[in-house]
Amino acid sequence: MSQRHRITIARGDGIGPEIMDSTLRILEAANAPLDFDFIEIGESAYLSGVLSGIPSEAWDVIRRNRILLKAPITTPQGGGYKSLNVTIRKTLNLYANVRQSKSYAPFVSSPHPGMNLVIIRENEEDLYAGIEHQQTPEVTQVLKLITRPGTERIIRYAFEYARSYGRDTVTCMTKDNIMKHTDGLFHKIFQEVAEEYPDIQAEHMIIDIGAARLAAQPERFDVIVTLNLYGDILSDIAAQIAGSVGLAGSANVGTEMAMFEAVHGSAPDIAGKDVANPSGLILAASQMLVHLGEPEAAQSIKNAWLCAIEDGLHTPDIYREGLSRTEVGTKSFTDAVIERLGREPKKLEAVHYNKGGIHFDITEQPRPEKQLTGVDVFLDWNEDGRDPDVLGAKLVELGGEHLRLKMITNRGVKVYPEGLPETFCTDHWRCRFVATGDSVAPAAVFELLLRIDGAGLDVIKTEHLYTFDGVAGYSLGQGE
Ligand code: NAD
Repeated sequence: MSQRHRITIARGDGIGPEIMDSTLRILEAANAPLDFDFIEIGESAYLSGVLSGIPSEAWDVIRRNRILLKAPITTPQGGGYKSLNVTIRKTLNLYANVRQSKSYAPFVSSPHPGMNLVIIRENEEDLYAGIEHQQTPEVTQVLKLITRPGTERIIRYAFEYARSYGRDTVTCMTKDNIMKHTDGLFHKIFQEVAEEYPDIQAEHMIIDIGAARLAAQPERFDVIVTLNLYGDILSDIAAQIAGSVGLAGSANVGTEMAMFEAVHGSAPDIAGKDVANPSGLILAASQMLVHLGEPEAAQSIKNAWLCAIEDGLHTPDIYREGLSRTEVGTKSFTDAVIERLGREPKKLEAVHYNKGGIHFDITEQPRPEKQLTGVDVFLDWNEDGRDPDVLGAKLVELGGEHLRLKMITNRGVKVYPEGLPETFCTDHWRCRFVATGDSVAPAAVFELLLRIDGAGLDVIKTEHLYTFDGVAGYSLGQGE
């Protein structure tokens, strides 16, 4: 007999309780091996003064059960309330965001009838770490952090997901022709991991071309895995062109915990009227069952739902004269899904999920040999008409026995030696000093900084130049 799973249920606000009742009735009728603990989060918690919307006793239950099925909640306007979703995602390390964009044409109108793709977006790293600085009056920067373990996790998740859901192809999208180290690491790990999944086709696209193809020909994509920012943009494009955002479920998955929900909000305008479409949450619950390694219950629910959709039983949000047969309310739609459990759709494609759930280990990498071979010293400099040759001459003098000035760039363009007078220069200069030997001691870097500071130049930051097992861990300047 299959193991039972105790999960946490948040009934949410607005239409939340109605669509959750519908989903729980279907889970029960499908004999999903689940037990439930209910928590109160959202509007009532916010209004009683809990700024996160999650009282501490609810946290205890969420952390104990590890799986949360959540109906949408209402975030009150103003008042310093924090987004509950962001809090849950960050606190529980939910590193993967998974969103399917699918058309259910001809039963639900869609501009891309053949579209059926899933975007798996890294959820914690990239530019979203929120590490930003203003360094000179003219220049701001943000740190884009891409880690090996974080990347390996999301890429393995994408391949495991493809296997569990019987999908054939995983497409990775990066901009590694420009960002060779950060996006380059993501692409490299994708290639490494892909070799362990010979049953799944793997392809890579540069994100700009990939996004253009997604908009023009979404039918050609299956599973897309990408970095946080690109995934954020792509999943909105995909949702928009599928024409079924109201039907979509989404998952936020971590190593220990996961949260499943509908993509839409709490729709207070239609709450309590028995007209809300429960499909987003029903499909999220089916995703949750695949995650838990319960593919039979997951596919039975999804196939019954597809039958109700192709039988033309539609809630008002998707009801269209000519396409739909009967307009139904939340409760009747739920009854219709329950009646169809055990059946497969005839016109829409039935789903078949694989056993096993999504489990994998991250490979321990041996630590490479790291050598310090130089330093990029960043200066705020606004003297002498910003003439790079003047700055270059000063810094050559300051180089010393262990480090010598190799080049200066401004916004990444080499301006010394042999810069061009046409290059526009801001007040933010990267001055690359390299070791005169094979490597250099950190103390020599600090001595260099003291000399530069002593010469009246304004050091705003440094980046050490390392090699890892002899391979440069930094981008090269022009002509280097
Ligand atoms: P919304 O998605 O709740 O509603 C947008 C429109 O879509 C409304 O006209 C609504 O009636 C309709 N709609 C949404 N879901 C529907 C469904 N299942 N069936 C039929 N019609 C549906 O977005 P909103 O109005 O911008 O936000 C309302 C509240 O929801 C806000 O407090 C917002 O903060 C919250 N919200 C919560 C989540 C979440 O919990 N994950 C997500 C988005 C918005």
